[in-house]
Amino acid sequence: MAARNRINNDNKGMVRRDFLKASAAAAVFLGGGRQAAQADTTLLPNQSQGKARNVICLVSDGMSVGTLTLADHMLRRHHDRPTHWAQLYEQDGVGRGLMDMASANALVTDSAAAASSWGCGQRVNNGSLNTDQDGEALTPILQYCKDAGKGTGLVTTTRITHATPAGFGVSVPERGMEDEIAEQYLERELDVLLGGGVRHFDPDQRGDGEDLFGAFRDAGYAVVKTRDELLDLDASDDRILGAFYGSHLPYELDRLNTPDLRRDVPSLAEMTEAALDRLNRNGNGFLLQIEGGRVDHAAHGNDIGGLINDQIAFDDAIGVALEFQKENPDTLVIVTTDHGNANPGLDGSDGNFDRIAEFTHTNDWILSGLNSDSSVSAIKERIEEATKLDIRDEEAEVLQSALRGEYTAARRAMSGPRPVLGQILANHTSVSWIGTSHTSDYVELAAKGPGSEAIGPLTRNTDLFNLMLDSLGVSYADRQQASLSYA
Ligand SMILES: [Zn+2]
Repeated sequence: MAARNRINNDNKGMVRRDFLKASAAAAVFLGGGRQAAQADTTLLPNQSQGKARNVICLVSDGMSVGTLTLADHMLRRHHDRPTHWAQLYEQDGVGRGLMDMASANALVTDSAAAASSWGCGQRVNNGSLNTDQDGEALTPILQYCKDAGKGTGLVTTTRITHATPAGFGVSVPERGMEDEIAEQYLERELDVLLGGGVRHFDPDQRGDGEDLFGAFRDAGYAVVKTRDELLDLDASDDRILGAFYGSHLPYELDRLNTPDLRRDVPSLAEMTEAALDRLNRNGNGFLLQIEGGRVDHAAHGNDIGGLINDQIAFDDAIGVALEFQKENPDTLVIVTTDHGNANPGLDGSDGNFDRIAEFTHTNDWILSGLNSDSSVSAIKERIEEATKLDIRDEEAEVLQSALRGEYTAARRAMSGPRPVLGQILANHTSVSWIGTSHTSDYVELAAKGPGSEAIGPLTRNTDLFNLMLDSLGVSYADRQQASLSYA
């Protein structure tokens, strides 16, 4: 493996937390404990501290509240049921609030800083993974769990080495170091890794030519690359690495309507079941992060079909987690997102919205079949094939001009083919977008199970780290400095 600097995992935040703990204890002694303790954290007192055996943290990446709402509309109107997420809000004993996801250097976070805030209990700069502003590596949450004897897992629809899963499992200065992230997963011996990203394990595609698949096999992992291989796994395989696509997994809408993809690539819910099945064999419990990672990509692309269907696929995974929680009530299930993105919203008729139920392919799929030479009729046909929408010639002409790089919208970010196609579809579906980027909105946070009672009205992102480890009874305050070498 590539030579690498020794990484010191010195969690500086603990020094501060030790101090806070001490001052809270002093305040209790003086009779002012409750107020003093609450001033230090946005969490309420965690009455079930240490009562959770397992934590399942589900993250829809880049999910604006509008995205949650639109997925719920779609299921209620076309499948006669609400989302599992919305159903949670109708149950007793569910903690719920908003969460402030700002990073160390920006109101608008990226996924790396967001996942790190939960992953190490500190705000880091955008682009960093569990590495502070001085370049100091901070211990990731799965390492604390591992050291406490708990199982550890990451499941995602992006590359498994992408920012959100990596934020729980590694410390690296830059999120783009995905080859190194794959190596750290192996070094840290995480138990379950399922998602895309073959390119960071395959010797022919890695920058250094290392055979990471082989290294994982040598370390005792079952390595699987297709849906069948995942579903046929031996009961004896405790550690699994599943990489089912070169880069990110396909969007759910394209996966469902492309027979080869449907055969070879598992759904997020299927990966969630496989992960829970393995991790639940650990008598000490586990921490599992599950990411609906491409909700974010669809939002960046103003792709309403991609967005709603990936959010529903994420919601199916919530359903699997809640079913597991019913059987294993000592499980804390957390459902949230790391930031809003493009804030979609329905601003027109129900009938226009219902047209989205007829879509069979994403805007990505539409644009992958068009280029700067595409005629107006070819553009119209391609869009009709994917959406059943008969767009106007003038609309196809605007997209043609965007494909040629000749179109400039008043809002410059809305000029490229993707936002232009999003705007054209908005004429027919009445779902509009505010832009193509992450937003600073406070995000939804809900939880069920031991520890969920600690969630207050507005949680600081870093406090979710404490909530997860406090609920599990995993110590992080008194930990010795850990180090990990990559010689
Ligand atoms: Zn994100």
